[in-house]
Amino acid sequence: MSGTMMDFPLTLVAVLERVGKYFGKIEVVSRRPDRSLHRTTYAQVYRRARALAQALQHAGLGHGDRVATLCWNHAEHLEAYFAVPCAGGVLHTLNLRLSPGELSYIVRHAGDKFLIIDDVLFPIYEKMRGEVSFERVWVVPTISSTTPAGCENYEQLITTARGEFQYPALNENDPAAMCYTSGTTGPPKGVLYSHRSLVLHTLAIGMADTFDLRQRDVLLPVVPMFHANAWGLPFLAAMVGAKLVFPGPHYDPASLLELMAGEQVTFAAGVPTVWMGVLEALEKNPGRWKLAADLRLGIGGAAPPEALIRALDSLGLRTMHSWGMTELTPVGTAGTLKSYMLDWPDDEKYAVKRLQGLPLPFVEVRAVSEQGEVPWDGESVGELQVRGPFVAASYYNLPEAADRWTNDGWFRTGDVAAIDPEGYIKIADRTKDLIKSGGEWISSVDLESALMGHPAVKEAAVIAVAHPKWLERPLAVVVCKDGWTISAEDLRAFLGWKFAKWQIPDAVEFVEALPRTSVGKFKKSELRERYQNWKWK
Ligand code: AMP
Repeated sequence: MSGTMMDFPLTLVAVLERVGKYFGKIEVVSRRPDRSLHRTTYAQVYRRARALAQALQHAGLGHGDRVATLCWNHAEHLEAYFAVPCAGGVLHTLNLRLSPGELSYIVRHAGDKFLIIDDVLFPIYEKMRGEVSFERVWVVPTISSTTPAGCENYEQLITTARGEFQYPALNENDPAAMCYTSGTTGPPKGVLYSHRSLVLHTLAIGMADTFDLRQRDVLLPVVPMFHANAWGLPFLAAMVGAKLVFPGPHYDPASLLELMAGEQVTFAAGVPTVWMGVLEALEKNPGRWKLAADLRLGIGGAAPPEALIRALDSLGLRTMHSWGMTELTPVGTAGTLKSYMLDWPDDEKYAVKRLQGLPLPFVEVRAVSEQGEVPWDGESVGELQVRGPFVAASYYNLPEAADRWTNDGWFRTGDVAAIDPEGYIKIADRTKDLIKSGGEWISSVDLESALMGHPAVKEAAVIAVAHPKWLERPLAVVVCKDGWTISAEDLRAFLGWKFAKWQIPDAVEFVEALPRTSVGKFKKSELRERYQNWKWK
């Protein structure tokens, strides 16, 4: 016997229709590159998203075709967030901070058909143009209305829509969006979200003990829409009808604070580095920005120092700490205190608040060491493994990465964690060889192989070292070949050919030999210990 309820598909169409029907008057504000504020409403976003969906279909978008975006956070990007999946396509957000080489690889691997790109980001496309072939490229005029040769204007594309748009028949398991995550070893890996996973994730992050977002809220996603769906916040804002405020390309603390004060933002989400900058600006300029009294900050993507959580709290800025991964759509946990913890002494409360929190509903977790699943004692550590309806079951078209899933169907996060008796997760370390600098990944493996491609270099290991502003920065430890010498500056310049500037190690240490494990690998744990008190100049 089955239940007798309707089998109603969980698709983004329902979210778009809801925002169009009920929240048309609510504003969507985007800061333009020239700092002016572009104001529109959900009614317009709804109308234009449907027009864009229809225009894309006229342009030849078929079921499951990928449409890449290379855009900052703004209303047009929101239109694409809904239009592409609701037209039956897959929205593929490209991370504009990656090097042209990485981007070209990702575009080719994903098989992207079309590109929507901001006018101000066009130089990035020009650098990879020879390596990729989009059928059509539409340029969003955020400051200039001239369209580069060989491309078309995004506004004109929207005007090609005619009559009433009919949604294609969509199944909830159809693909809707796609995001690549940096490789630990090997190439970047694509995560292909379904409508169902996005909808369930949206419901889970909106809950009161997660982001607690209501219609009356004003939401500022500082997290970029090109990295892990901006934590799913654009979908959530539309579902609840909350006013959206987008920073465009202006991420410096003063610009964010001005926007938060000007629009009376009540929920803003970003990585710890962003809030460290904001805290510093607030402390230097007390009283300069009149922030909303009920402002809350979502903080995650990297571990926030406890001192940061305390300092923000002391200014009346309540934080919600969460942990997540691109593979989890991306939010996996939320750091809410349980009712009986609210009366605990401050020190005990902060000891919980700095943990990565409790899993969201339907996310199951375990920590597994070589001996098997570790007890939930808050001390024993193992690799954090997860499963659930918004956890990836494989990477897109990458069978060789199947070992990231266990035989019994859990995703291996690459994070090392302890779980306490209350169920709170504490991320202790990372098995993946990556450095997270200001919220964006740098692959130490890629840097090492590039360094070891230099004729003067015999061996190189790159490790993450704590940094006051970026939380982690890469340090290269290099052994030169006998009879060779090279300067740190020349090595850094050599890396400049392949890597974006921010990915290049800030310092190079020359040593006689690298420590090794029993099987001859570089013993990075020993290097991390050796350089743990490293002082950046
Ligand atoms: P990404 O897929 O780029 O979102 O990165 C996911 C990874 O970021 C996780 O596997 C963790 O290593 C790290 N991460 C995300 N959130 C946190 C957090 N709150 N605390 C510690 N590490 C985090």
